[in-house]
Amino acid sequence: MFFSLTPCLRLLTGRRCLLYCRSIVSENSDRRAAVDNAVSAFRSICGEDGISLGEAVREQHGKDESVHRCCPPDVVVFPRCVEEVSALAKVCHQHRLPIIPFGTGTGLEGGVGAVKGGVCFSLRNMDQVLDLHPEDFDVTVEPGVTRKALNTYLRDTGLWFPVDPGADASLCGMAATSASGTNAVRYGTMRENVVNLEVVLADGSIIHTAGKGRRPRKTSAGYNLTNLFVGSEGTLGIITKTTLRLYGIPEAMVSAVCSFPSVQEAVDSTVQILQAGVPIARIEFLDDVMIDACNRFSSLSYSVSPTLFLEFHGSEQSLEEQVSTTEDITQSNGGSDFQWARDAETRSRLWKARHDAWYAALALRPGCKAYATDVCVPLSRLPQIIVETKEDLIESRLTGPIAGHVGDGNFHCLMVVDPSDPDELHRVHLFTERLARRALAMDGTCTGEHGVGLGKQALLREEMGPLSIQVMQGLKDALDPLNLMNPGKILQQVEL
Ligand SMILES: Cc1cc2nc3c(=O)[nH]c(=O)nc-3n(C[C@H](O)[C@H](O)[C@H](O)COP(=O)(O)OP(=O)(O)OC[C@H]3O[C@@H](n4cnc5c(N)ncnc54)[C@H](O)[C@@H]3O)c2cc1C
Repeated sequence: MFFSLTPCLRLLTGRRCLLYCRSIVSENSDRRAAVDNAVSAFRSICGEDGISLGEAVREQHGKDESVHRCCPPDVVVFPRCVEEVSALAKVCHQHRLPIIPFGTGTGLEGGVGAVKGGVCFSLRNMDQVLDLHPEDFDVTVEPGVTRKALNTYLRDTGLWFPVDPGADASLCGMAATSASGTNAVRYGTMRENVVNLEVVLADGSIIHTAGKGRRPRKTSAGYNLTNLFVGSEGTLGIITKTTLRLYGIPEAMVSAVCSFPSVQEAVDSTVQILQAGVPIARIEFLDDVMIDACNRFSSLSYSVSPTLFLEFHGSEQSLEEQVSTTEDITQSNGGSDFQWARDAETRSRLWKARHDAWYAALALRPGCKAYATDVCVPLSRLPQIIVETKEDLIESRLTGPIAGHVGDGNFHCLMVVDPSDPDELHRVHLFTERLARRALAMDGTCTGEHGVGLGKQALLREEMGPLSIQVMQGLKDALDPLNLMNPGKILQQVEL
């Protein structure tokens, strides 16, 4: 198969080189002229209020929550409907202007940076929940709807959308990065929960990845276009609608905190809990440095040692069983008694503290910036990789509290870095590359949930191998032959 594929891909690659020469207008003077020509067309599509050339607005849309520096677009547009998105994309296509979709800017990989200038499509004005089908457990939303807004909307229906990256991200941005977070161990990631997408391609055409209006629970109808766009980080098209799976709110929920003598025992417990088939809803690991930071930041008083935050969902009876099996396992691994959070307020305080881990880490060194790694490995390799990573952090003289969605084999080192110290930045760079390669050597991935963005292109190539990268490039060329969609991300590396 590879032999018949390769010549075809070579052709695509050659075609791409030709196209690239006459593709996006990235030279500053040419681009300025193209923007000037496009602006009046933008105004006529989305009105005077629907476009901004102001420096503050452009800067606000040129960066996310990552350490990557701000790369402002030339102009920001605020479409109100898919027809406007399509018309704006057609103008960009005509003038060869890059298009950068913007959700809520909570990304951690520099995905919204306009590294080649161009037009930022801020989708916040498209914020309607469109079709709710409670009896079918699905809903369709526009790209400005955030996960918290959706769950507020659903409050009286007995349903909820569980994918929870902590930040109040837009649901289409979450689809674009294939986000997950604390509930993924039980409910899956965006990949498992997106049923259909409406996407505007670079030339302005509008497609529906599972067919217009379709929302079956399963399908074997042709190529899986939906999952092609999930995780495409704005490089293939602008997601203007997503249909999502919903779940019944569990009858009962209870959270608990348990500390351990060592990392190995905490992570061994995680593996054993999952091997025992406990349908745990959340199981989050915090190392001693992280729990100490959370204690200080969120006024808590947990023991400063490796810790698990756990949550159980189900009927009262099933909770009893889940908790009892879990307690047996944690105690056999030297875990402390559980500290319980049963009422909604205490549970929400506990999980807020976990979600604030990023800010707690930052507070360890005021004035510094944070960079979060997000490798993911098969579960059985988790104890080894976390233990080795902690040793590496000490040897590298770096501050990097560890928190992770360990139930999925996914963990974060929240590196707190002084951006004005080149030696420290260099050590962080070497450490993060070593960590990613350690994960690859253990059959894992360099990014479990944040995406490739601006910094992980070389690691992606190592992870995938040249033929798979060629296939990805062929798909990109087929959908976006002028390389207008979010250039510089995933496949193409740009010197910054
Ligand atoms: C404190 C904190 C904790 C976090 N924890 C987690 C976590 O546990 N798990 C996790 O997965 N993530 C986590 N994140 C990262 C972030 O919330 C996710 O990556 C989220 O999916 C980004 O959504 P957004 O709407 O903010 O996207 P943005 O930051 O606006 O954009 C991210 C990327 O998606 C593209 N994009 C955005 N909207 C669209 C669209 N409509 N169509 C096409 N492309 C689009 C952008 O071009 C960009 O490449 C965390 C972030 C913070 C700040």
